[in-house]
Amino acid sequence: MFIGHFAVGFASKRFAPRAPLVLLLAAPLLSDLLWPFFLQFGWEHIRFVPGITRYNAFDLYDYPWSHSLLMGVVWATLFAAIYFAFSRYHAGAITIWIGVISHWILDWITHIPDMPLYPGGGPKLGLGLWNHVAATMIVEIVMFVVAFYLYWIATRTRDWIGTYACIAYAVVLLFLFVGARFSAQPESVKQIVVPGLITEAILLAWPAWFDHHRVLRTTST
Ligand SMILES: [Zn+2]
Repeated sequence: MFIGHFAVGFASKRFAPRAPLVLLLAAPLLSDLLWPFFLQFGWEHIRFVPGITRYNAFDLYDYPWSHSLLMGVVWATLFAAIYFAFSRYHAGAITIWIGVISHWILDWITHIPDMPLYPGGGPKLGLGLWNHVAATMIVEIVMFVVAFYLYWIATRTRDWIGTYACIAYAVVLLFLFVGARFSAQPESVKQIVVPGLITEAILLAWPAWFDHHRVLRTTST
């Protein structure tokens, strides 16, 4: 899943309005943020098997540190605890915790059975939405559009950056998601790690920037 994880981050603003958007996005993205590093370090592995799902060629046979349910709980608790230590904001910490866990649940719906429960073997789960290309596209796009709208109405702009940089971000994400369907699939770890890290940096710096140019719409709650 790709923009579906961003959807969780945008929707989170409703539940933790005082938390910065960049952290609300980083939480549901955390497993995928860690993954390129762990691939690079050789702690996790991927194979490329054309046709393994209709959606992509990823044989995700070994990624328990970024993508097991148990490690999801560990990362979620760490992230939420560190956030709470700095912010003392309960709603933010709880939303971040749920956000990190949501990654496993959404990937479990999307992936074929490759999602581990814990590192070191054990059953692997996955409902395989990726075998249905149109359904994958529709589910992720609908999730994203609804969640972006929730963020949009929970906040209001202070200036043109808050309007246009925010809209442009949503458009670019949709474009990346749809565009990936019609472009060459990565075929090596290198083609995932370097573009992955660059994309991560941009896709987090950008919302950090425009979120500063938007304020909460209501002060009554
Ligand atoms: Zn993932």
